[in-house]
Amino acid sequence: MRDGQVISARLLAWYDRSARVMPWRIGPADRAAGVRPDPYRIWLSEVMLQQTTVAAVRDYFHRFTDRWPTVAALAAAADAEVMAEWAGLGYYARARNLLKCARAVVGLHGGVFPASREGLLALPGIGPYTAAAVAAIAFDEAATVVDGNVERVVSRLFRVEEPLPGAKPRLTALAATLTPLVRPGDHAQAMMDLGATVCTPRSPACGLCPVLDLCAARAAGVQADLPRKVAKAAKPTRYGIAYLARRADGAWLLERRPDRGLLGGMLGWPGTDWSAAPAPAPPMAADWRDLGAEVRHTFTHFDLRLTLHMAIVPQGAMPDRGDFIAPKDFRPAELPTVMRKAFDLARAAEGGD
Ligand code: SF4
Repeated sequence: MRDGQVISARLLAWYDRSARVMPWRIGPADRAAGVRPDPYRIWLSEVMLQQTTVAAVRDYFHRFTDRWPTVAALAAAADAEVMAEWAGLGYYARARNLLKCARAVVGLHGGVFPASREGLLALPGIGPYTAAAVAAIAFDEAATVVDGNVERVVSRLFRVEEPLPGAKPRLTALAATLTPLVRPGDHAQAMMDLGATVCTPRSPACGLCPVLDLCAARAAGVQADLPRKVAKAAKPTRYGIAYLARRADGAWLLERRPDRGLLGGMLGWPGTDWSAAPAPAPPMAADWRDLGAEVRHTFTHFDLRLTLHMAIVPQGAMPDRGDFIAPKDFRPAELPTVMRKAFDLARAAEGGD
């Protein structure tokens, strides 16, 4: 048996004992008994898990699948409802792409997901990673799935010293040498689980590892140093002003952000652009008061500092942009995190009202 086959066989045996329990996953015992994963649930979980931890995703996954148990139900949902349910999970382009994809599965495939990596890749909003993950996990295609956990495991097993992100193609090629023809879906999940629970970033628990004796990094004692990464440039800081207007009846002025761009399609406070020195851009004439409070939020490519201006406006006042949302219709939980932080801070600065 080649090393790749030995590694895969050991990983599968370890997975049969140690697989993490996930709400979207069919565990190894059920799988052996013939239970098949639901491609809709696998796809939804994979989209949610991009750039996001399992712990953060669980509740969202339950809420989505309770509310929209099938891809057809999701495809029929209103955009605003899906964006509101996604609020707080971040990377909002994923929610927009989720809807596009669900509608394509229904419109083009009668509500049945294509059962191959190629077919999945042709859908809007599905990239190479998601296509491979769904093909492997839902359809047992021998597709190689490489997420951050898998990159770490492979870089250590093969002692790849080249830093990320340049090493990605090599790590993918090496991961492919481990992908078995039998149970490739469980293999993909075993690799992810090993990276998440044993071969962890800072102090891998090599003593618990089923492939300890085959690991080149461990043999050289360099496992904690891998994978190497090119140092990231420091993030720039951008500034902005958020305008929180409240009408006498308690309605708040909110604005839906354009579909394209950061927080696209989400509700938020009207504001300035986010730049080095933004010009004031209040959404209506009012007696704006600087609350002296600042929201700090980190996005992928920059840090944001948002100054909060607030105004109480009369009942008939008309905004230049945005809409007043009545108290009964305003749910702060449906705001993206940075806008929610602004709301919480404004209320605290006001004394909790
Ligand atoms: Fe990771 Fe250690 Fe296993 Fe190597 S031996 S794969 S470093 S846990």
